[in-house]
Amino acid sequence: MLTSLSERSVIVTGASKGIGKGIASLFASKGAKVLLVARDLGQTESAAAEIRSAGGIASALAADVSNVEDTMRMAATATERHGGIDIVCCNAGIFPAARLGAMTGADWDQVLDVNLKGTFLTVTACLPALKARGKGRIIVTSSITGPITGYPGWSHYGASKAGQLGFVRTAAIELAPSNITVNAVLPGNILTDGIKILGDEYIRRMTAAIPQGRLGSVEDVAYAVLFLASDEAAFISGQTIVVDGGQVLPESQMALEDL
Ligand code: NAP
Repeated sequence: MLTSLSERSVIVTGASKGIGKGIASLFASKGAKVLLVARDLGQTESAAAEIRSAGGIASALAADVSNVEDTMRMAATATERHGGIDIVCCNAGIFPAARLGAMTGADWDQVLDVNLKGTFLTVTACLPALKARGKGRIIVTSSITGPITGYPGWSHYGASKAGQLGFVRTAAIELAPSNITVNAVLPGNILTDGIKILGDEYIRRMTAAIPQGRLGSVEDVAYAVLFLASDEAAFISGQTIVVDGGQVLPESQMALEDL
């Protein structure tokens, strides 16, 4: 049993749907006060309303994590509404596919701006409020793609997700004296709108590549984030938790066929 997160102020970026919404819902169900952030206000408000109707404390804010003014406004809003910031979940991310040769500089910049620079801007904006608390938690949603694996079309995405881990490790050192831990979760294939867009065939073939024989749920990821945000995880920093049903383990296709 972990120490209660009741009354903790939590920011979750990319919370209008998918993994972020799952993280926001789980924290709210544990009594935390959650600010849900994404660009589409309508969708973010309806995610927050869903959480409130389940008894949670949640509100929405439209902000683009790749924009410095937006991230400053996000930190100010959480402080205003919830009296400070305790936990920051840098989860917003995009994964458009483009193969080398077809990928443009603009494609590259867009993915790196949201996934990597967005993580940096979110953390930077929240730092003064986290430091004012005397302790804090930062949890970044990276991916197995980039840090561990590769997939055609996602060289920019993989670079952004591996880059997040480089950021996490140095941030963890710099923020240790402030009692702020910085860790990352590395989801495998999690059934979200973003993944459903890739089509039934992608999902069928990906399921076959996962030893547990299923894609992950948003709750699978959210529980790992919750643990890293807990008081009990105070001595863990600069680390990663892979949440993938064993997807990165088989050394060949044969290992799966022999199951
Ligand atoms: P999703 O269903 O497409 O949701 C993405 C969320 O991010 C939405 O709320 C979206 O809302 C928000 N977002 C996108 N760009 C943003 C921006 N510039 N500023 C603020 N919010 C932004 O994606 P998901 O599958 O839940 O993925 C969430 C995170 O998990 C991403 O970082 C992704 O790389 C990572 N991940 C996912 C999987 C998976 O299998 N699903 C696997 C590994 C890692 P708006 O569009 O309204 O802004």
